[in-house]
Amino acid sequence: MSYQSMEEARIRCEKEGIPFWKAVQSEDANERQITEEDSWNVMKQMWRTMLDSLDAYDPELMSRSRMVGREGGMMDAYREAGDTLCGDFMAKVMSNALKMGCNNACMKRIVAAPTAGACGVMPAVLVTYYREYDVAEEKMIEALYVAAGIGQIIANRAYLAGASGGCQAEVGSGSGMAASAICHVKGGSTDQIGHACAMALKNLMGLVCDPVGGLVEVPCVKRNVGGAFNAIAAADMALAGIESQIPVDQVIDAMKEVGDKMDVSLRETGFGGVAGSMKAAEIVERMNM
Ligand code: SF4
Repeated sequence: MSYQSMEEARIRCEKEGIPFWKAVQSEDANERQITEEDSWNVMKQMWRTMLDSLDAYDPELMSRSRMVGREGGMMDAYREAGDTLCGDFMAKVMSNALKMGCNNACMKRIVAAPTAGACGVMPAVLVTYYREYDVAEEKMIEALYVAAGIGQIIANRAYLAGASGGCQAEVGSGSGMAASAICHVKGGSTDQIGHACAMALKNLMGLVCDPVGGLVEVPCVKRNVGGAFNAIAAADMALAGIESQIPVDQVIDAMKEVGDKMDVSLRETGFGGVAGSMKAAEIVERMNM
Protein backbone atom coordinates (compact mmCIF):
# COMPACT_ATOMS: atom_id res chain seq x y z
CA MET A 1 0.00 0.00 0.00
CA SER A 2 2.99 2.21 -0.39
CA TYR A 3 1.74 5.08 -2.52
CA GLN A 4 3.61 8.26 -1.77
CA SER A 5 0.80 10.45 -3.00
CA MET A 6 -2.82 10.38 -4.03
CA GLU A 7 -1.66 11.63 -7.39
CA GLU A 8 0.54 8.57 -7.88
CA ALA A 9 -2.37 6.28 -7.02
CA ARG A 10 -4.77 8.27 -9.20
CA ILE A 11 -2.46 7.98 -12.22
CA ARG A 12 -2.30 4.21 -11.77
CA CYS A 13 -6.09 3.95 -11.44
CA GLU A 14 -6.53 5.97 -14.60
CA LYS A 15 -3.90 4.05 -16.55
CA GLU A 16 -5.19 0.62 -15.59
CA GLY A 17 -8.87 1.54 -15.43
CA ILE A 18 -9.19 0.28 -11.85
CA PRO A 19 -10.87 1.77 -8.78
CA PHE A 20 -8.75 3.21 -5.98
CA TRP A 21 -9.46 0.31 -3.61
CA LYS A 22 -8.16 -2.18 -6.17
CA ALA A 23 -4.94 -0.22 -6.64
CA VAL A 24 -4.43 -0.35 -2.87
CA GLN A 25 -5.18 -4.07 -2.66
CA SER A 26 -2.82 -4.87 -5.51
CA GLU A 27 -0.02 -2.85 -3.86
CA ASP A 28 -0.66 -4.57 -0.52
CA ALA A 29 -0.45 -8.03 -2.07
CA ASN A 30 2.67 -7.04 -3.96
CA GLU A 31 4.40 -5.52 -0.95
CA ARG A 32 3.64 -8.44 1.36
CA GLN A 33 4.23 -11.09 -1.30
CA ILE A 34 0.79 -12.61 -0.86
CA THR A 35 -2.11 -13.18 -3.23
CA GLU A 36 -4.86 -10.61 -3.59
CA GLU A 37 -7.23 -13.18 -2.15
CA ASP A 38 -5.12 -13.54 1.00
CA SER A 39 -4.94 -9.77 1.29
CA TRP A 40 -8.74 -9.64 0.98
CA ASN A 41 -9.16 -12.23 3.72
CA VAL A 42 -6.98 -10.25 6.11
CA MET A 43 -9.05 -7.13 5.43
CA LYS A 44 -12.26 -9.10 5.89
CA GLN A 45 -11.01 -10.29 9.27
CA MET A 46 -10.25 -6.68 10.19
CA TRP A 47 -13.80 -5.68 9.25
CA ARG A 48 -15.37 -8.46 11.28
CA THR A 49 -13.21 -7.60 14.27
CA MET A 50 -14.50 -4.03 14.01
CA LEU A 51 -18.10 -5.30 14.10
CA ASP A 52 -17.41 -7.63 17.03
CA SER A 53 -15.62 -4.94 18.94
CA LEU A 54 -18.54 -2.57 18.65
CA ASP A 55 -20.96 -5.28 19.78
CA ALA A 56 -18.76 -6.06 22.79
CA TYR A 57 -19.37 -2.60 24.31
CA ASP A 58 -20.55 -2.82 27.90
CA PRO A 59 -22.46 0.26 29.13
CA GLU A 60 -21.77 -0.67 32.75
CA LEU A 61 -18.00 -0.64 32.39
CA MET A 62 -15.89 2.38 33.30
CA SER A 63 -12.22 3.04 32.72
CA ARG A 64 -9.87 2.69 35.67
CA SER A 65 -9.69 6.47 36.01
CA ARG A 66 -13.52 6.51 35.93
CA MET A 67 -13.45 9.42 33.50
CA VAL A 68 -15.21 7.56 30.66
CA GLY A 69 -17.11 4.37 29.89
CA ARG A 70 -20.85 4.96 30.06
CA GLU A 71 -21.19 7.56 27.29
CA GLY A 72 -22.10 5.05 24.55
CA GLY A 73 -25.01 3.68 26.58
CA MET A 74 -26.14 7.19 27.58
CA MET A 75 -26.20 8.25 23.95
CA ASP A 76 -28.20 5.13 23.01
CA ALA A 77 -30.80 5.90 25.67
CA TYR A 78 -31.07 9.52 24.51
CA ARG A 79 -31.45 8.44 20.87
CA GLU A 80 -34.05 5.84 21.72
CA ALA A 81 -36.15 8.55 23.36
CA GLY A 82 -36.52 9.90 19.82
CA ASP A 83 -35.80 13.57 20.33
CA THR A 84 -32.24 14.12 19.11
CA LEU A 85 -31.18 17.31 17.38
CA CYS A 86 -29.18 15.55 14.71
CA GLY A 87 -31.57 12.74 13.74
CA ASP A 88 -31.46 9.00 14.25
CA PHE A 89 -28.64 8.06 11.87
CA MET A 90 -26.21 10.69 13.13
CA ALA A 91 -27.13 9.84 16.72
CA LYS A 92 -26.18 6.23 16.00
CA VAL A 93 -22.89 7.45 14.51
CA MET A 94 -22.34 9.37 17.73
CA SER A 95 -23.07 6.39 20.00
CA ASN A 96 -20.84 4.11 17.99
CA ALA A 97 -17.92 6.55 18.09
CA LEU A 98 -18.36 6.85 21.86
CA LYS A 99 -18.65 3.09 22.33
CA MET A 100 -15.42 2.36 20.54
CA GLY A 101 -13.57 5.13 22.36
CA CYS A 102 -14.87 3.75 25.65
CA ASN A 103 -13.90 0.21 24.65
CA ASN A 104 -10.35 1.42 24.10
CA ALA A 105 -10.28 3.23 27.45
CA CYS A 106 -11.65 0.09 29.14
CA MET A 107 -8.94 -2.09 27.57
CA LYS A 108 -11.30 -4.00 25.30
CA ARG A 109 -10.36 -5.19 21.84
CA ILE A 110 -10.43 -2.51 19.16
CA VAL A 111 -9.11 -2.04 15.63
CA ALA A 112 -6.55 0.76 15.78
CA ALA A 113 -7.38 2.40 12.48
CA PRO A 114 -5.35 4.50 12.30
CA THR A 115 -4.58 4.52 16.07
CA ALA A 116 -6.18 3.39 19.32
CA GLY A 117 -7.07 6.97 20.24
CA ALA A 118 -8.92 7.46 16.97
CA CYS A 119 -10.40 3.95 16.84
CA GLY A 120 -14.00 5.18 17.01
CA VAL A 121 -14.10 7.27 13.85
CA MET A 122 -14.03 4.57 11.18
CA PRO A 123 -16.51 2.14 12.82
CA ALA A 124 -18.83 5.00 13.71
CA VAL A 125 -19.07 5.95 10.05
CA LEU A 126 -18.74 2.59 8.32
CA VAL A 127 -20.44 0.13 10.66
CA THR A 128 -23.35 2.48 11.28
CA TYR A 129 -23.88 2.94 7.56
CA TYR A 130 -23.50 -0.79 6.87
CA ARG A 131 -26.12 -1.72 9.44
CA GLU A 132 -28.49 1.10 8.63
CA TYR A 133 -28.53 0.59 4.88
CA ASP A 134 -27.84 -3.14 4.60
CA VAL A 135 -24.82 -2.75 2.34
CA ALA A 136 -23.00 -5.83 0.94
CA GLU A 137 -20.07 -6.80 3.15
CA GLU A 138 -17.76 -6.78 0.10
CA LYS A 139 -18.39 -3.07 -0.36
CA MET A 140 -17.31 -2.38 3.20
CA ILE A 141 -14.11 -4.38 2.74
CA GLU A 142 -13.37 -2.34 -0.37
CA ALA A 143 -13.97 0.74 1.79
CA LEU A 144 -11.37 -0.49 4.28
CA TYR A 145 -8.85 -0.69 1.43
CA VAL A 146 -9.71 2.89 0.52
CA ALA A 147 -9.15 3.96 4.13
CA ALA A 148 -5.91 1.97 4.36
CA GLY A 149 -4.58 3.50 1.15
CA ILE A 150 -5.35 7.01 2.38
CA GLY A 151 -3.84 6.25 5.79
CA GLN A 152 -0.67 4.98 4.17
CA ILE A 153 -0.30 8.12 2.07
CA ILE A 154 -0.75 10.26 5.20
CA ALA A 155 1.82 8.11 7.04
CA ASN A 156 4.27 8.42 4.15
CA ARG A 157 3.93 12.19 3.79
CA ALA A 158 3.20 13.22 7.39
CA TYR A 159 2.31 11.10 10.43
CA LEU A 160 -0.44 9.24 12.22
CA ALA A 161 0.63 9.69 15.85
CA GLY A 162 -0.49 12.40 18.26
CA ALA A 163 2.99 12.44 19.79
CA SER A 164 4.39 13.40 16.39
CA GLY A 165 1.82 15.76 14.92
CA GLY A 166 -0.98 16.38 17.41
CA CYS A 167 -4.51 15.02 17.25
CA GLN A 168 -4.86 16.23 13.67
CA ALA A 169 -2.63 13.23 12.89
CA GLU A 170 -4.87 10.79 14.80
CA VAL A 171 -8.52 11.85 14.81
CA GLY A 172 -7.81 14.10 11.82
CA SER A 173 -6.34 11.24 9.79
CA GLY A 174 -9.05 8.85 10.97
CA SER A 175 -11.60 11.38 9.79
CA GLY A 176 -9.90 11.72 6.40
CA MET A 177 -9.75 7.94 6.04
CA ALA A 178 -13.40 7.51 7.01
CA ALA A 179 -14.49 10.32 4.69
CA SER A 180 -12.77 8.65 1.74
CA ALA A 181 -14.08 5.21 2.68
CA ILE A 182 -17.72 6.23 2.98
CA CYS A 183 -17.38 8.28 -0.19
CA HIS A 184 -16.38 5.06 -1.96
CA VAL A 185 -19.33 3.17 -0.45
CA LYS A 186 -21.63 5.84 -1.83
CA GLY A 187 -20.17 5.46 -5.32
CA GLY A 188 -17.65 8.32 -5.27
CA SER A 189 -14.88 8.43 -7.88
CA THR A 190 -11.15 8.39 -7.12
CA ASP A 191 -11.12 12.19 -7.40
CA GLN A 192 -14.06 12.51 -5.02
CA ILE A 193 -12.33 10.16 -2.56
CA GLY A 194 -9.36 12.55 -2.60
CA HIS A 195 -11.54 15.63 -2.16
CA ALA A 196 -13.43 14.03 0.73
CA CYS A 197 -10.15 13.31 2.50
CA ALA A 198 -8.74 16.77 1.80
CA MET A 199 -11.83 18.51 3.19
CA ALA A 200 -11.93 16.32 6.30
CA LEU A 201 -8.24 16.93 7.02
CA LYS A 202 -8.51 20.68 6.49
CA ASN A 203 -11.41 20.91 8.92
CA LEU A 204 -9.36 19.36 11.70
CA MET A 205 -6.00 20.88 10.84
CA GLY A 206 -4.16 22.19 13.88
CA LEU A 207 -6.01 19.94 16.33
CA VAL A 208 -3.76 19.44 19.34
CA CYS A 209 -3.14 16.28 21.33
CA ASP A 210 -3.97 17.01 24.96
CA PRO A 211 -4.96 13.87 26.86
CA VAL A 212 -5.79 14.52 30.51
CA GLY A 213 -3.34 12.63 32.71
CA GLY A 214 -1.78 11.20 29.57
CA LEU A 215 -4.71 8.76 29.33
CA VAL A 216 -6.45 8.20 26.00
CA GLU A 217 -9.83 9.15 27.46
CA VAL A 218 -10.43 12.90 27.75
CA PRO A 219 -10.83 14.57 25.28
CA CYS A 220 -10.15 11.55 23.04
CA VAL A 221 -13.41 9.58 23.38
CA LYS A 222 -15.70 12.50 22.53
CA ARG A 223 -13.30 13.81 19.92
CA ASN A 224 -13.98 10.64 17.92
CA VAL A 225 -17.55 11.90 17.54
CA GLY A 226 -16.22 15.10 16.00
CA GLY A 227 -14.02 13.11 13.64
CA ALA A 228 -16.93 10.91 12.53
CA PHE A 229 -19.34 13.80 11.94
CA ASN A 230 -16.66 15.69 10.06
CA ALA A 231 -15.98 12.64 7.87
CA ILE A 232 -19.63 12.34 6.88
CA ALA A 233 -19.90 16.05 6.13
CA ALA A 234 -16.73 15.97 4.01
CA ALA A 235 -17.90 12.90 2.08
CA ASP A 236 -21.29 14.44 1.44
CA MET A 237 -19.64 17.62 0.17
CA ALA A 238 -17.42 15.60 -2.18
CA LEU A 239 -20.40 13.56 -3.40
CA ALA A 240 -22.26 16.81 -4.04
CA GLY A 241 -19.45 17.73 -6.45
CA ILE A 242 -17.77 20.22 -4.11
CA GLU A 243 -14.01 20.13 -4.56
CA SER A 244 -11.16 20.97 -2.23
CA GLN A 245 -9.30 23.86 -3.83
CA ILE A 246 -6.09 22.48 -2.32
CA PRO A 247 -5.18 18.99 -3.60
CA VAL A 248 -5.17 16.31 -0.92
CA ASP A 249 -1.39 15.69 -1.14
CA GLN A 250 -0.73 19.36 -0.44
CA VAL A 251 -3.22 19.33 2.43
CA ILE A 252 -1.30 16.42 3.97
CA ASP A 253 1.96 18.33 3.51
CA ALA A 254 0.40 21.35 5.22
CA MET A 255 -0.73 19.13 8.08
CA LYS A 256 2.86 17.94 8.48
CA GLU A 257 4.12 21.51 8.55
CA VAL A 258 1.56 22.46 11.19
CA GLY A 259 2.45 19.37 13.27
CA ASP A 260 6.15 20.13 13.06
CA LYS A 261 5.52 23.62 14.41
CA MET A 262 3.29 22.38 17.24
CA ASP A 263 4.73 22.91 20.69
CA VAL A 264 5.73 19.70 22.49
CA SER A 265 3.16 20.45 25.23
CA LEU A 266 0.47 19.88 22.59
CA ARG A 267 1.79 16.55 21.37
CA GLU A 268 0.62 13.86 23.79
CA THR A 269 2.73 14.98 26.73
CA GLY A 270 -0.38 15.77 28.77
CA PHE A 271 0.75 19.32 29.64
CA GLY A 272 -1.04 21.62 27.19
CA GLY A 273 -4.57 22.13 25.90
CA VAL A 274 -7.31 20.78 28.17
CA ALA A 275 -4.69 18.56 29.83
CA GLY A 276 -3.21 21.77 31.25
CA SER A 277 -6.50 22.99 32.75
CA MET A 278 -7.15 23.32 36.50
CA LYS A 279 -9.77 20.61 36.35
CA ALA A 280 -7.32 18.25 34.67
CA ALA A 281 -4.85 18.89 37.52
CA GLU A 282 -7.59 17.99 40.03
CA ILE A 283 -8.39 14.78 38.16
CA VAL A 284 -4.75 13.78 38.02
CA GLU A 285 -4.34 14.47 41.73
CA ARG A 286 -7.41 12.35 42.51
CA MET A 287 -6.07 9.51 40.38
CA ASN A 288 -2.75 9.58 42.22
CA MET A 289 -4.33 9.39 45.66
S1 SF4 B 1 -5.92 13.80 22.03
FE1 SF4 B 1 -4.00 12.73 21.63
S2 SF4 B 1 -4.20 10.74 22.64
FE2 SF4 B 1 -6.26 11.61 22.42
S3 SF4 B 1 -7.03 10.80 20.47
FE3 SF4 B 1 -6.12 12.77 20.04
S4 SF4 B 1 -4.01 12.26 19.44
FE4 SF4 B 1 -4.82 10.46 20.49
